[in-house]
Amino acid sequence: MAEQKDRLTWLDSAIGDADHGTNMHRGFTAASAALDGLVPDTVGAVLIGTGTTLLSFVGGASGPLFGGAFRAAGQTICTPAATTQELAEALAAGLAEVTQIGAAVPGDKTVVDAWTPALAAFRHRADAGADLAEAALAAADAAEEGMRATAPLQARRGRASYLGTRSIGQLDPGATSTALIFRALADAVTAR
Ligand code: ADP
Ligand code: MG
Repeated sequence: MAEQKDRLTWLDSAIGDADHGTNMHRGFTAASAALDGLVPDTVGAVLIGTGTTLLSFVGGASGPLFGGAFRAAGQTICTPAATTQELAEALAAGLAEVTQIGAAVPGDKTVVDAWTPALAAFRHRADAGADLAEAALAAADAAEEGMRATAPLQARRGRASYLGTRSIGQLDPGATSTALIFRALADAVTAR
C-alpha cells in the first residue's frame, strides 16, 4: 500500500474523490504497527486484528469493506496454521462480508470484481490438491485479471456510480487494492 499509495489515489481521482491511496495506506500502516510485537495464537487473530485496525483507520467506503472482510475471514480460522482449504473458506467469508455490506455483484466495478475471480482460482487449485503457494499465486493472477477487466465497466456501486458513463475507462481503485492484497498474500506464502 505504501508503494502504490499515489497510484491508488490517482485512480480514485479519476472516478472518485482522490483518497483511496491515502485511506488504504493509513489503514495498513496502522495494521502493521498493531501487529508489530504481537505473538498471535491463531491465523484468525492476525486477520481479526488487521480488520479491526482497518475499520478504525481507513474511513471511506473501503474501511468497512476491507475491515469487515478481514474480520470475517479471521473468524473462520481458529488454529495456529491454516490449510489451503481453510484459507479458501476464509477468503470466501471475506467476500461474503464485502457483498453483505456493499451489495455489489460482479460487473459493478468494485472490490468484488477482483475478489470473485481470485477466490474462484484459489478454490479451483485447492480442490485440485495444490499447495498454498500455488493456490495463492493463481488467486493473485486472477485478481489482477479481474482488476484489469474493471476498466471498461460502468460503476454501479459507490461514489464512482454517480458519474454514470463517465466512470468508464479507468481501473477501479478498490479492485486494484484488492489485487495488491492478493499479490501480497502470494508473495508472503511463496517466500516462506
Ligand atoms: P470512498 O468511495 O468513500 O472515497 P475509497 O475511495 O477508499 O472510499 O474506496 C473506493 C472503492 O471502494 C471503490 O473503488 C470500490 O472498489 C469500493 N466500493 C465502493 N462501494 C462499494 C460497494 N458497495 N461494494 C464493494 N466495493 C465498493
Ligand atoms: Mg475515495
